Amino acid sequence: MNDKRKALVDELVYKGYIKSQKVKKAMLKIPREQFMPPDSINQAYDDRPVHIGKGQTISAPHMVAIIAEKLDLKEGMNLLEIGTGQGYNAAVIAEVMGKKGHIYTMERIPELAAKARENLKKTGYSDIVTVIEGDGTCGYPEKAPYDRIYGTASAPKIPEPLKEQLKIGGKLIIPLGSEYSQDLISMVKVAEDEYQTQKLGGVIFVPMIGKHGWPEN
Ligand code: SAM
Repeated sequence: MNDKRKALVDELVYKGYIKSQKVKKAMLKIPREQFMPPDSINQAYDDRPVHIGKGQTISAPHMVAIIAEKLDLKEGMNLLEIGTGQGYNAAVIAEVMGKKGHIYTMERIPELAAKARENLKKTGYSDIVTVIEGDGTCGYPEKAPYDRIYGTASAPKIPEPLKEQLKIGGKLIIPLGSEYSQDLISMVKVAEDEYQTQKLGGVIFVPMIGKHGWPEN
């Protein structure tokens, strides 16, 4: 066991971000350093986002913990992630969910998608996590409907295709707001065209750029 990883997980438990044994076990198991650029691995167990190139970041561990807890994951679920980065969050979610489910994760920057595929293969998650290169604001209708959808980039409003691709009873978590600060929103689709939303707190994510998100500058 990596001592720094254990210390970080203990801190996230102490601060109340990690609440369940299954999220704790997953974050103790996944080597975050293997999802980071080689020149940043000394920052792998700091609780903050780190640059991964192309103007993007690997999310702070406490943010990964919050999303993993709030998704309320069950074995065998079908999931969609928007914003793969280099794949760390998807690996944590995959570990929490177990081998019977599947995660489709979308990344718009080809170099990051390729790196994420490599990282997920190296760490043993490529059977249950499929990286799709493309605009996640359009979702991935090929494998819809989804039990859970989550975004790790922020949008001005919930992209309509994501609402459509969510199962009834399914949950979507996404940061919504301006390009500089957002609220993390949890939305449950209670019936066709009927949704219940809840604010989970203030966050700062990189923008979700695409047809139903922010325009590319
Ligand atoms: N899930 C990542 C992790 O494990 O740390 C977080 C990555 S970063 C905070 C957000 C990612 O969203 C970036 O890699 C960015 O390129 C990607 N992104 C932004 N807009 C997107 C879109 N429309 N479709 C897919 N990916 C997008």
